[in-house]
Amino acid sequence: MLYQRSSQLFAEAEKVIPGGVNSPVRAFKSVGGTPIFVKEAKGAYLYDEDGNRLVDYINSWGPMILGHAYEPVVNAVIERAKKGTSFGTPTALETEIAELAVSMVPNIDKIRFVNSGTEACMSAVRLARGYTKREKIIKFAGCYHGHSDSFLIQAGSGAVTFGSPNSPGVTQGTAKDTLLATYNDLQNVKDLFEANKNEIAAIIIEPVAGNMGCIPPAEGFLQALREVCDANGALLIFDEVMTGFRLAKGGAQELFGVKADIVTFGKVIGGGLPVGAFAGRNEIMNYLAPVGPVYQAGTLSGNPLAMAAGLEMLKALNSDEAIFSRLEEKTAYLEKGIREKLTAANLVYTINRKGSMISVHFDANPVTDFKTAVNGDNETFKKFFHGLLKEGVYIAPSAYETWFITDALTYEDLDFTINAIEKVAKDL
Ligand code: PLP
Repeated sequence: MLYQRSSQLFAEAEKVIPGGVNSPVRAFKSVGGTPIFVKEAKGAYLYDEDGNRLVDYINSWGPMILGHAYEPVVNAVIERAKKGTSFGTPTALETEIAELAVSMVPNIDKIRFVNSGTEACMSAVRLARGYTKREKIIKFAGCYHGHSDSFLIQAGSGAVTFGSPNSPGVTQGTAKDTLLATYNDLQNVKDLFEANKNEIAAIIIEPVAGNMGCIPPAEGFLQALREVCDANGALLIFDEVMTGFRLAKGGAQELFGVKADIVTFGKVIGGGLPVGAFAGRNEIMNYLAPVGPVYQAGTLSGNPLAMAAGLEMLKALNSDEAIFSRLEEKTAYLEKGIREKLTAANLVYTINRKGSMISVHFDANPVTDFKTAVNGDNETFKKFFHGLLKEGVYIAPSAYETWFITDALTYEDLDFTINAIEKVAKDL
């Protein structure tokens, strides 16, 4: 495949946009080469500026769970746009999507919409701090909760890819309030509570980590965190920006049967438009302005186009009882195929998967936390990535990312991908 026009476009972009991209992980820094410039997308495919068709396993990093240019979403956005694109007043649409979200997700009474997953997590932590009147939070190494200052402490994918786990610009004062724990290590969390008695406002966690590859929680780990929080008067925040409306209708809370105090959303909930949200029980959510003292706001929050897109997406997921089992079956089929081909090629690998999130690690050892995630053989990953790209399969340009499976993928697409992996694996 030729990527001549993409390369030219990247050279032009680099002159006026830092690194040529508006979000670092889009650059091909960790795999080498230049990014693909996409012209349009439909269903399971991306079409780039050079006319190549790529089977897409990134899906805008998660949102396009029903495929690109999903018609009900596209039509809803077009119709809304004709009536005005932003009012700065409440709209009935916001209540409609809020009611639907609250009905789908367990254990939440109220939800507030923002413009990104970053905003959702940042606001959730402020709310937890205001509610508990405590300042420290626990986050897990390798988990990413957006690029707000408090979270850029061993923050997984993007930060790992660029070798700057602690970004310059984050003050020591901010960093000291973020306590780092090891994913899946309960004792570590207990020790932090012991050493910071009555100071920890909340634990924030990706209930299935998706920013150091896909790392599911160990059996009972989330429930144990719930108990530790209860015993210490801290809140449990599930960052469901990736897992929300993907692993189950009610996200990870439903899948694992564990209640969080605050849940954050992004990606799927916006149907591909810029949306984030955070939600919780009345007693916590009523701590927010204008009813409560914790301030949080946004000129474009609840934007009608974004709400129209999100509403159509949630309606589609809510009305299709089989969607999540279908995604599970497709991803399990893909996993089986990848295993067969990598094993046949005598490669050393580990595959992690939960539902429609999956990652391939070139390492023989179990990948259960940040330390084991970064052990993988990045040189082999680079060849794997570029080999697949040549074959028309687009996975994330970093070894520390999850693949997101879309329902638009057919079994033919999955076989096409598995065949591509067979070809590529022979040369690794
Ligand atoms: N939380 C998680 C788990 C994420 O994966 C991401 C983004 O990838 C974010 C938060 C931040 O979301 P956004 O990029 O919309 O700000």
